Amino acid sequence: MCKYGLVNRIIPFSCVDGPGNRSAVFFQGCEFRCAYCHNPETQNLCTSCGVCVSQCPTKALTMGDKGVLWNSELCCSCDQCLNVCPSHSSPKARWMSVDDIFQELQGALPFITGITISGGECTQYHQFAAKLFDRAHELGKTAFCDTNGQLPFREMPELTAVMDMAMLDVKAWNDERHRELTGKSNRIVLDNLNYLSEIGKLYEVRTVIVPGLLNNEETVEQVSRHLAHYPEIRYKLIKYRPWGVRPPLEVQPPSDQYMEQLRTLACENGANEVVLT
Ligand code: SF4
Ligand code: SF4
Repeated sequence: MCKYGLVNRIIPFSCVDGPGNRSAVFFQGCEFRCAYCHNPETQNLCTSCGVCVSQCPTKALTMGDKGVLWNSELCCSCDQCLNVCPSHSSPKARWMSVDDIFQELQGALPFITGITISGGECTQYHQFAAKLFDRAHELGKTAFCDTNGQLPFREMPELTAVMDMAMLDVKAWNDERHRELTGKSNRIVLDNLNYLSEIGKLYEVRTVIVPGLLNNEETVEQVSRHLAHYPEIRYKLIKYRPWGVRPPLEVQPPSDQYMEQLRTLACENGANEVVLT
């Protein structure tokens, strides 16, 4: 189905999802199961189990013939439904058309430089995303893809052609560690790193730093060696924070000092621009 995409939520204004002031569209569903995922409610599709319905304090949720119905006008955004969902899903996800999305963004359009699609994993809707990006360009907006790299961009030519740039997570360089963290191999992720770099469509690589869980030094060293050949691509090192992580991880966020050590390591290995956040 490419007329519609299942949207978890839309943020009209964001300054952390790519360059400039952007609108961010988060899609529902992801094949990775990252232990540190801070928006686990985007991982799966709703199973219509009904658990969330009785927990909604404003009666914004009801059970219909085809599953849970969400009344946005009654919703107070307490997120209780997300907290109780046993399936890491959301009853608020909506199938939306390109028209629906731009209708919702109408008020924001005069003030943004572009849109970014994220998730979940936005490339699961790559045909729909290509149409969304076509419309963004017609309106004079840039189109960025925030991706975990689980699907090969080489095999999504429509999306790859129309997107301006991508931001790619490289969560772990070592395949075994990547499997432990996400449940999947990093083989396609690393191929996307090479491919998007070669075709000039990679704006940023991102690595979340989690001491005690990942071999951060190895990933930072290998990614920055790669980026030494592409000085136009920046490298963002993201401090692990426990917000939203379910179940909680038995690890502490990295210190500022450790983050600075990793920045130094990345620069020594040739990364041109390293950003800490
Ligand atoms: S966020 Fe969920 S639980 Fe809270 S009011 Fe809205 S639908 Fe109900
Ligand atoms: S959102 Fe979660 S709790 Fe609610 S019906 Fe769907 S699967 Fe069940």
